[in-house]
Amino acid sequence: MNTDELREKYLSFFQSKGCHRQGSDVLVPTWDPSVLFTPAGMNQFKDHFLGKVKLDFTKATTCQKCLRTGDIDNVGRTAYHHTFFEMLGNFSFGDYFKEEAIHWAWEFLTDKKWLAIDPTRLTVTVYKDDDEAAGIWNEKIGLPTNRIACLEEDENFWPASAPSQGPDGVCGPCSEIYFQLENGKSVEIWNLVFTQFNRVGNPPDNLRPLPSKNIDTGMGLERTASVLQGVPSNFHIDILFPIVKAAAEVCGVKYEYDSDAGRRLRRITDHVRACTFAIHENVYPGPKKARYIIKRLLRRAVLDGHQLGLRDPFLYQLVPMVAQMMKGPYPELGDTIERVQSVMKREEADFLSTLDGGLERIQRMFSEMDSSSKVMVDGREAASLYQTYGVPPELLQALATERNFTFDWDSYRVAMDEHGEVSGDDQKQLFKTGPIETLKEAVQKSDFLGYESTTSKAVIKGIILGQPKEDSLVGSLKASTATDTMVRIVLDRTPFYGESGGQVGDKGTIQGDGFVFQVKDTQRAGDLVVHVGTLLSGEVKAGAVAEAIVDTSNRDAIRRAHSATHILHHALQTTLGGHAQQQGSKVDRDWLRFDFSNQESLTEDQIKKIEEITNSCIEQKAPVSWKLVTLADARKEGAMMLFGEKYPDPVRMVTMGEFSRELCGGTHLDNTQQVQTLEILSEESVSAGTRRITALTGSRAAEHRAMVEKVVHESSSLLGCSVESFPETAGNLVTALRKLKKMTSGTGTEAAPEKVGKQKSAPKPTGSYSGAYSLARNALRQVSRAINVPMEEVGKRIQSLLADQDAMHDQLSNMSSGSKLTVEDLLNMSEMVGDIRLIVAETPGANPNTMRQWIDQLRKDSETPVAVLLGSKLDADKVTLIAAISPALVARKLNAGKWIGPVAAIVGGGGGGKPDVAQAGGKDPEKLTEALATAKQTFMDMLKS
Ligand code: ATP
Ligand code: MG
Repeated sequence: MNTDELREKYLSFFQSKGCHRQGSDVLVPTWDPSVLFTPAGMNQFKDHFLGKVKLDFTKATTCQKCLRTGDIDNVGRTAYHHTFFEMLGNFSFGDYFKEEAIHWAWEFLTDKKWLAIDPTRLTVTVYKDDDEAAGIWNEKIGLPTNRIACLEEDENFWPASAPSQGPDGVCGPCSEIYFQLENGKSVEIWNLVFTQFNRVGNPPDNLRPLPSKNIDTGMGLERTASVLQGVPSNFHIDILFPIVKAAAEVCGVKYEYDSDAGRRLRRITDHVRACTFAIHENVYPGPKKARYIIKRLLRRAVLDGHQLGLRDPFLYQLVPMVAQMMKGPYPELGDTIERVQSVMKREEADFLSTLDGGLERIQRMFSEMDSSSKVMVDGREAASLYQTYGVPPELLQALATERNFTFDWDSYRVAMDEHGEVSGDDQKQLFKTGPIETLKEAVQKSDFLGYESTTSKAVIKGIILGQPKEDSLVGSLKASTATDTMVRIVLDRTPFYGESGGQVGDKGTIQGDGFVFQVKDTQRAGDLVVHVGTLLSGEVKAGAVAEAIVDTSNRDAIRRAHSATHILHHALQTTLGGHAQQQGSKVDRDWLRFDFSNQESLTEDQIKKIEEITNSCIEQKAPVSWKLVTLADARKEGAMMLFGEKYPDPVRMVTMGEFSRELCGGTHLDNTQQVQTLEILSEESVSAGTRRITALTGSRAAEHRAMVEKVVHESSSLLGCSVESFPETAGNLVTALRKLKKMTSGTGTEAAPEKVGKQKSAPKPTGSYSGAYSLARNALRQVSRAINVPMEEVGKRIQSLLADQDAMHDQLSNMSSGSKLTVEDLLNMSEMVGDIRLIVAETPGANPNTMRQWIDQLRKDSETPVAVLLGSKLDADKVTLIAAISPALVARKLNAGKWIGPVAAIVGGGGGGKPDVAQAGGKDPEKLTEALATAKQTFMDMLKS
């Protein structure tokens, strides 16, 4: 099927589904300040998605011309990236949603009437929490689960990583469709975005469903055409290959896929097409923004031609071919061929007139760098090259990259600013020019030696000073100027393992001529290994030779944990079944976390069995080995493969005895016995259908066991019980405390529970047990859950619960001594004020219930009206006051609430109630006597007023 037919079929298919067919938006949307070029089909509908415009239609389909600068370095190198390309899209603005979007995509791709792609060649990805999309693919479309990969938010969310990183606003999960190529690789052809959430703040629970959900999909026209036409790359499809051939002819070279010339011809083809479209839209090469990008694309293509031997303008000759290839959908290109050609030719001539001089100077600079063993291109030189010879810095960087030199963007910007020129700021945003990006281009790959050795000589390729985003590449660095500053070092080769595949990065030192650098963490940036740490002493210089030394005791602890995860994986599969596949893991020193598929939580028996299998695999002392194999061979040998993992080919296969074969890049032990022992700490749920085990190995496992035994021993002896009855006894203690609390606060009516725990008269506890370790651990687990503290704190908590119990028992016995007071006693304490019987008394330890009972009795027993105010210390820091007056006094406008107020204030509290009874609390028992003295006076004052 040719490309024009494909474009047409797509648009008419979605028209048949009721989508409005809308033309392509312009390539340079000057109406949208947030982008320089249209990056995707949805761009023209931004306001539709946000509901900012009146909708004439609620579903649409387009073929959009796009230009992506972010993919610039891939062009010519990968088979499937362009700067300029066409994106086929279908969109819903609150109309159809996930169900239709998926069904229609599948129908269009596989139905005989449409593209008729063999369904077994297609696989999909979904966002890991999007069960709905996974369900539709699996149950409705019938795609088996092993062809549905669940990916993280950085891969399958729009905007990327939005749930955790933001920005706030409209966002949603994606589902991508991949075509599986003959060579075992795959290519993404279509991305479906389900815009269904509004993000509000940080996780958790920050994704709110949108009332009106949208669909935004993008299918690469050239990629799909290349798949349908069965050609090796996008550049070989019917609308692009004639341009490649024309370029080869103009340049006088033969086109071959794998040669350097082949790559250059593909880049020329891409760039001339992009420039033709842009210049057609009046975006001429210039110093800033979109124009600068066109200038850069054009000059890059000219440089490619120059390196193929051309010295005169040539690109412009390809414009008619571009117009002809694209004339179906864009006939207007034919009208501006001459104008486009003349703009292009002038720019080519300009650049070519200075290029020889520029290249000569660049060569000289490179040789000087070589002889003084420098590895970073000076930004001042670059600025001067741009001003004098018009060599764009990115072009210079590309040339430097071919020699493995880095590029100093910071000094380039400084120099440009000094000259009052447009600094690279525009460019900084347009292209990836951070230090790491620069190093990636120049060094490309740090050789990893850490499987065989833990020390190595290496050359320092880059030194980065400062936190990401405020960082810069420096040629040298002194410890005195860099104290406490984060420094990152890149070497040409390293034994340090950079964090990946769930395994944390190595620690250690890099040292050389007079300097010592402490590596606190090791990360990866693409194929680069980045050593993160601080410069302890001396001066480190780019280009110097150093010794990289991994901290082996740290590494060994990580190896134990990593090998243990493979063993655990095997044990899980054996115990639970083949579905219990790894979903994720984190491996640190003698510590591991392992997520796997399983619906229910594991039973005690299952956990026991898993531990048994694991520990028997460890005891076996099974050899651990690894080799590089092709993916196909790995599959044949039965290696565990997780769909959705991107495996390199060839791939590293790690084998343990006869029981485990996994594809893994991590560092492992020599034999399983070196794990020493594995101790499961917890088993819990992470999300629907996924469970998580956390475990320890090596010395940490042993320490943990010792801790468990110690805590169980101590706690059960405190409680005076055996290990077997530890959970029950601890439970009894908790229940007793609950009852005691009720009683001391005056709400309980039952008799005081018997004391739990070691009694003076109780027999000496054994504190030891005869059962296995697992008995002790289970007991401790149960107790830790029941009293809600981590296992290691159980002993301390039991101790403090026992102390609470003692204190409450003391309090209760105080209270009961307080309750020895009788109504008679209180009446005896009363004095008469006119016809009123006034009783103000302290009732030590009495709880509010008792106090109220007395007051009722007093009011009943006295023939004359009574006014009572009782106060009681309940605790070291708690006072209760209750005031009450007879109804007759209420009739005289007296008020118990008003009476108690100032009294309570003295004991630092407040309260209130009805005119006849009021209760107050205070926190200053020491002042109770003073407060009660005032109470009498307050009452007298109240009578007078
Ligand atoms: P990739 O990861 O392969 O670069 P992407 O995730 O950036 O692709 P999207 O932004 O989802 O792609 O764009 C939707 C579709 O547009 C892709 O599925 C692909 O078919 C196509 N596409 C994206 N970038 C390019 C490009 N630079 N050249 C050609 N086609 C592209
Ligand atoms: Mg991309």
